[in-house]
Amino acid sequence: MKLNALNSLAGSLGNTDQMPLMFLGHGSPMNAIEENEFVTGWRDAGKSIPKPSAILCISAHWETRGTFVTAMEKPMTIHDFGGFPQRLFEVEYPAPGSPELAAETKKIVAKTEVGLDMKWGLDHGCWSVVKHLYPAADIPVIQMSLDYYQTPQFHYDLAKELALLRKKGVLIIGSGNLVHNLGRVAWDKLNEIGFAFDWATEADEKMKKFILEGDHKQLIDYKSQGRAFDLAIPTPEHFLPLLYILALKEEHETVSIFNDKAVAGSLTMTSVKIGT
Ligand code: ZN
Repeated sequence: MKLNALNSLAGSLGNTDQMPLMFLGHGSPMNAIEENEFVTGWRDAGKSIPKPSAILCISAHWETRGTFVTAMEKPMTIHDFGGFPQRLFEVEYPAPGSPELAAETKKIVAKTEVGLDMKWGLDHGCWSVVKHLYPAADIPVIQMSLDYYQTPQFHYDLAKELALLRKKGVLIIGSGNLVHNLGRVAWDKLNEIGFAFDWATEADEKMKKFILEGDHKQLIDYKSQGRAFDLAIPTPEHFLPLLYILALKEEHETVSIFNDKAVAGSLTMTSVKIGT
């Protein structure tokens, strides 16, 4: 690429005030089409911040070998779940992609080679929440994958390299769940908001404490936190998007917690907003 082409790419996203960051506990895909307090919480969070120029979403539901960003013009809506009503499969979220943001992201990350993906799209970890923040689907969205071969520290360090995007109007969203153990779901209390097993409450409370105190090291070392964390994070993919958001927090920025409730005993919807 010639130098002037590189310059125009860097300038394609204008400079803005620093955008906030969000970790959204997404829970059941049904939240995409239901009205409940979590959906209201996401909607309110969206209204509380400046309108972004684009969104970069790190979703629990896109795991790859290596790190990729979606780089197509029109990402498809992926219905990556089973056993739900037909009307959920009919939901489309037609937000445009942003090949420019994908290229910019690839350029600024030095820690690893970021691949440009033309096949994925938007999975439910992304669209089921983003559709409530921006129902008009008029803001370009790209996803960044989770490299499942890497350590929590790798993800945290990689995320730090995305800081520049916050000053270009890009809203970075991590979508997962702090406590997420589908093997322990209380099926008889599936729709009971607020019911949590003791270990789930313990893990969620400790996580919130570490988040609010800025003690990220304890969260990066989540595997050393004992039984409650082991049960809360049986596999890393729903937890790791949190580390991306925390890594990007600057010292002076405020942290607020919302949607702070459990569902079905073994999931928490706890969400985090950083900055204003
Ligand atoms: Zn999920």
